[in-house]
Amino acid sequence: MTPGRPGPAVSAPAPDTADQATKDAMSNATTVSPAHSASTASTLITNIASLVTNDPSLGDGSPLGLIQDAAIAIEGDRVVWTGDQSKAPATDNRVDAGGRGVIPGFVDSHSHLVFAGDRTQEFNARMSGRPYSAGGIRTTVAATRAASDGELAANLTRYLHEALRQGTTTFETKSGYGLTVEDEARALRIAAAHTDEVTYLGAHIVSPDFADDPASYVALVTGEMLDACAPYARWIDVFCEKGAFDGDQARAILTAGKAKGLHPRVHANQLSYGPGVQLAVELDAASADHCTHLTDADVDALASGRTVATLLPGAEFSTRAEWPDARRLLDAGATVALSTDCNPGSSFTSSVPFCVALAVRDMGMTPDEAVWSATAGGAAALRRDDIGRLTPGARADLLLLDAPSHVHLAYRPGVPLVSGVWRRGVREV
Ligand SMILES: [Zn+2]
Repeated sequence: MTPGRPGPAVSAPAPDTADQATKDAMSNATTVSPAHSASTASTLITNIASLVTNDPSLGDGSPLGLIQDAAIAIEGDRVVWTGDQSKAPATDNRVDAGGRGVIPGFVDSHSHLVFAGDRTQEFNARMSGRPYSAGGIRTTVAATRAASDGELAANLTRYLHEALRQGTTTFETKSGYGLTVEDEARALRIAAAHTDEVTYLGAHIVSPDFADDPASYVALVTGEMLDACAPYARWIDVFCEKGAFDGDQARAILTAGKAKGLHPRVHANQLSYGPGVQLAVELDAASADHCTHLTDADVDALASGRTVATLLPGAEFSTRAEWPDARRLLDAGATVALSTDCNPGSSFTSSVPFCVALAVRDMGMTPDEAVWSATAGGAAALRRDDIGRLTPGARADLLLLDAPSHVHLAYRPGVPLVSGVWRRGVREV
């Protein structure tokens, strides 16, 4: 099937004489009653060649719940019906997808977007042979501390728009470039204006101000800084790595965060083997992120717990590092998410489709698995069940591809295939 022209045709609203019987049929076909049903227009997106629902009870019965020749109805900010287009309900508006694919919006569950400055020179040097080390973060810390609130907010907004154009409808983002009480709290305050998925990462590296006294920095991160940051954050994170925080420090930081009502996620096993993954599973972290260097015991722990393994191939790409082995994790039964790790140092991409392509090409994932991991997997890594799927009751976050199916995201790497983005039921791209 040939993809249609860019931009779907949007028909005029249906006349007011819409048959009451078809409206009744629509409400019967749904399992939810939208809160604003009396005043909110409904929209049917139809003529979808291939619809990814991420509900295995639908369509082909695969984890993607793939429906061919599909339609999806949205009302307000929710999906109200998904199925065969020949059985679609009547709606106020209609969008012709032109025989293209529709998938859930990407859930980018790992980014670092509150920063200032640029690390072009570091990247250029690294691509000339210098290895990456965690210390590069200090460059961004200095620039971020020097920036105004307005500069940080403008930078964040810029990258959010960039990500939205590429299909990201939910994103998590972290502090970690302030490393003082005031700078960490303001980073989270700025982030919280744009997303509910805000992560306190005062333990990104030991602040340069405490280079000779890391124990005192851990005390700050678990004390005054935590108190100042907790009101703005849902999550607490720690970079558990040689050169950052060891297992004991990471445990103290995450445990302190839990006591303040924050839920853990962990930068684990990125640059070397270490205790991060085991600690994440033990503390019921929502996600262990990176998972590049895993022992068999680490893989077993991830497969047996509910901690998601979040893989961030932009980091390996941008540091010419060894790829995480997604195939090994999937074969063991672990839940895998794919995210960008967008940050100015080690992975300066906001493109989930790029990560999908890398995961398929270099990490042993099938196109189906990679798209699931970038949508439903990301939702699982944020412990969310209202996003990452396109079934009645889910948030109407969805992407119209300029391609007949989701497979093209990996098949046509680097091509901007996201041609339409609906977020909370509103078309934004
Ligand atoms: Zn990260």
